[in-house]
Amino acid sequence: MVEIKLSEMRDLTRIERIGAHSHIRGLGLDSALEARSSSEGMVGQTSARKAAGVIVKMVQEGKIAGRAVLLAGQPGTGKTAIAMGMAKSLGQETPFAMLAGSELFSLEMSKTEALMQAFRKSIGVRIKEETEMIEGEVVEIQIDRPAVAGAASKTGKLTLKTTEMETVYDLGAKMIEALGKEKVHSGDVIAIDKASGKITKLGRSFSRSRDYDAMGPQTKFVQCPDGELQKRKEVVHCVTLHEIDVINSRTQGFLALFTGDTGEIRAEVRDQIDTKVAEWRDEGKAEIIPGVLFIDEVHMLDIECFSFLNRALENDMAPILVVATNRGITSIRGTNYRSPHGIPIDFLDRLLIISTQPYTWDDIRKILDIRCQEEDVEMSEEAKVFLTKVGEDISLRYAINLITSSALACLKRKGTIVELEDVKRVYELFYDVKRSTQYLMEYQNQYMF
Ligand code: ATP
Repeated sequence: MVEIKLSEMRDLTRIERIGAHSHIRGLGLDSALEARSSSEGMVGQTSARKAAGVIVKMVQEGKIAGRAVLLAGQPGTGKTAIAMGMAKSLGQETPFAMLAGSELFSLEMSKTEALMQAFRKSIGVRIKEETEMIEGEVVEIQIDRPAVAGAASKTGKLTLKTTEMETVYDLGAKMIEALGKEKVHSGDVIAIDKASGKITKLGRSFSRSRDYDAMGPQTKFVQCPDGELQKRKEVVHCVTLHEIDVINSRTQGFLALFTGDTGEIRAEVRDQIDTKVAEWRDEGKAEIIPGVLFIDEVHMLDIECFSFLNRALENDMAPILVVATNRGITSIRGTNYRSPHGIPIDFLDRLLIISTQPYTWDDIRKILDIRCQEEDVEMSEEAKVFLTKVGEDISLRYAINLITSSALACLKRKGTIVELEDVKRVYELFYDVKRSTQYLMEYQNQYMF
C-alpha cells in the first residue's frame, strides 16, 4: 500500500499567474439565477450564463449524474469563461481543469491516459487532519506501578473534569513519564495530545471562552463514541486526485507537478490511492469535491476517447464535464460517420446543450475594461475604442492579447497611459490570423516552387 505523502502536498504552493480568465470569479447571477449585466467579471452572454447557472444548481442538488454540458459557439464567445465561471460558483475550492481535444494526441502518453489525468485533475480531495487532544481540569491523578515479572510496569489514571462532563483517561507508561516532567497537579488545566502523549499546561484557571478561543477558530469539540470529550484541531488540505497520483508515483517526484512532465501513471498506483481515499471518506477524514473538466475542440476526439468519457461519467466521483465546439455537422474522428458537432450519438444523448452568441460592441468594450483593470493597465479612451473595434472585427481574444503587449510598448517609451499609438504599434507588429493568412496567400508564389 502506498503511503500517501501528505506532508509534501502540504508544502506545495500553487503558482498563481495572471491567466486569460483570471478576472472570472463566478457566473454573475442573482438569487433568481438571472444574469446580471456585468458581475463577478462576467459580461453579456446572459442566456448562456443563466443556463450554466441552472446546471450548477442541478449539480449542487445532485441531479445531474452521468450527464455533460456542451457549449456550442464561435471562437472567443466565452465558452471557456463560462465553464470556469461554473467551477467558481460551485465554490472557490472547486478544481477546474481544461484541455483542448488536439492536446490528447501527443507522443508522450496515450490519449486515454491524458484523459484520465485530466479527469483526476478535476476531482478535488478535501483532507481533514486532526490533532487529537483531550482537555480539562485535573481533579485526580492515580498511578500504580505493579511489578510484572521483575520489570516495572506502569499504569495510571488521570481524571479530568471538563466543563461538560467527567472524563477518565487511561495513561500508558509514556504518558506517566510526561506527566512527571510536566508536574501536573490537581486543579491544573491541561491538554493531552493522544498520539504523542504530549501534555500542555494551559494554566490554573479554566475559563472556557478565553482558553478555548485561544486554540483558534478551527478547533472544535467532538463527542467520541466512548463518551470522552475531546478537543480536536482540524487542518484542512485541498488537493486533486492527480496531485496525489503524481506525488505517490515512484517514477515521478512532486516536482513533476510544476513541470507538467508527469508521464504515464501506473494503474496500480491509482487503485491504491482510490482505496486509500475511500478509506479516508469512510472514516470521515476526506471529502470528494467533484470539479469541472472543460474539453475544448471536442470534435477533435475520436471514438475511443468518447467511449472513455461515457464510462468515466458513470463514476460517482466524476466531475462535471463541459465540452465545447464550434463545428456543426462534421465527421466523427476515426470513422466515416458524420454527426452533429462530430460527436457520436450515444454521447450526444448525455449532453445538455448551451449555445453562446457573438458579443455586441458594448460587451466587448466592457470585457476589455475589465481586462485592463485586471492587468493594471491604464488606457486612453481613443485606444480603447480602437481595441474594441479590433475585438469586433477580428477576435476578442486577439484584442485581449494586445492589452499586454501595448502596455509593454507604452513602458518602452516611458509612458504611463497606453495611447492609441501603442496599440497601433503592436497591432502592426503582431498579426491576427486573417492578416497572416492573407499575407501568406499574397506571397505564396515566392514560397512555393
Ligand atoms: P475558443 O473557442 O477560441 O476556445 P472561447 O469561446 O472559449 O474561445 P474564451 O476563451 O472564453 O472564448 O474568451 C476569450 C477571452 O474573453 C477570455 O479571456 C475570456 O475570459 C474573456 N471572456 C469571454 N467571455 C466573457 C464574458 N462573458 N465576460 C467576461 N470575459 C469574457
